Amino acid sequence: MPRALITGITGQDGLYLGEFLAEKGYEVFGMVRGQSNPKIPTVEEYIPSIQLLEGDLRDLSSLIGVLETAQPDEIYNLGAISFVGLSFKQPELTGDITGMGVLRMLEAVRIHTQGSMNGVRFYQASSSEMFGTTGESPQRETTQFHPRSPYGVAKVFGHYVTQNYRESYNTWACSGILFNHESPRRGYEFLTRKVTRAVARIALGRQKVLAVGNMDVSRDWGFAGDYVEAMWLMLQQPEPEDYVIATGESHSVRDLLQVAFNRVGIDDWRPYVEQDRRFFRPADVSVLVGDATKAHERLGWQPKIGFQELIEMMVGEREADSRPGRGVEHAAGHELIADAPSGVPAPS
Ligand code: NAP
Repeated sequence: MPRALITGITGQDGLYLGEFLAEKGYEVFGMVRGQSNPKIPTVEEYIPSIQLLEGDLRDLSSLIGVLETAQPDEIYNLGAISFVGLSFKQPELTGDITGMGVLRMLEAVRIHTQGSMNGVRFYQASSSEMFGTTGESPQRETTQFHPRSPYGVAKVFGHYVTQNYRESYNTWACSGILFNHESPRRGYEFLTRKVTRAVARIALGRQKVLAVGNMDVSRDWGFAGDYVEAMWLMLQQPEPEDYVIATGESHSVRDLLQVAFNRVGIDDWRPYVEQDRRFFRPADVSVLVGDATKAHERLGWQPKIGFQELIEMMVGEREADSRPGRGVEHAAGHELIADAPSGVPAPS
């Protein structure tokens, strides 16, 4: 039975990937940080066979300990401060976890394997935010990076240090440069989740107005469940290489608002939305769109869920159930929409 270790198991991707690997027959180990991490019950509910180990990307010896217990064949390094907005507020912490954490994990593998790192396959969660305001569109594996946030900068470090270990120590290490991917398990701080939750609440009469930042930015949004399959496919290849994973379509925040409000029967969303400069970032990225041709051709990977279906799925999550992702299994969207009062309340 192959053994996989996932850092960031309590996050959106960790939950989907853990389920995916357990279904494939892997023995799955998840690394959790902190005493009594409140997300442990959710992880155990989604992935009953999971084995959880304590470790922190800021603490090398804990990572070595995790590797000694898990003895993994595959490592998926998903742990990070992953929210761009937070990275502006806590840049040093972001650099330490999202950037240096990758180096520590690779060092832990090197120490654990006593230098013969080829038996272990390593996946690094790189990000389209590394491209920032690059001149090339769509962005592909060869596109130059120009990150615009401490998060993007930290991810560039993680990306290059992964390449460096591959070249220096013959590590079987690759990076997936994933564009935004969302789901009902997305944290509430992220825009798609904030919008879809607020729209459901507005339809139910529980919220009047939604405040958002820059509505002109566009992103290439896919479904997280599709993207974790690409991570696994990368580690099944004969050689470690980096891949862009994206849908190839970019949608603005206005498109997101339109689809989400349409889902609850509101055509003109403008009275319900206000732009709030507090949510603007010191530096932003206007448009990102990925070219995943290499992944299509070499991995045979294709996204299955498109933008509209994704956003409608997220609006349909059971509003009363605050645990991330419950709506998927309960198909609660229909209940939620059916429960909604027929007359949508007017904003104040
Ligand atoms: P997420 O939901 O924010 O999850 C982040 C995970 O990192 C959580 O499990 C968190 O654990 C863990 N973590 C934070 N600090 C840690 C530390 N010091 N030591 C160990 N673990 C720590 O992120 P996601 O959406 O699943 O994304 C997974 C990875 O893909 C991240 O690296 C992210 O940057 C990258 N990525 C995501 C996207 C996207 O659109 N989702 C796109 C490109 C790349 P706690 O529960 O303890 O906080």
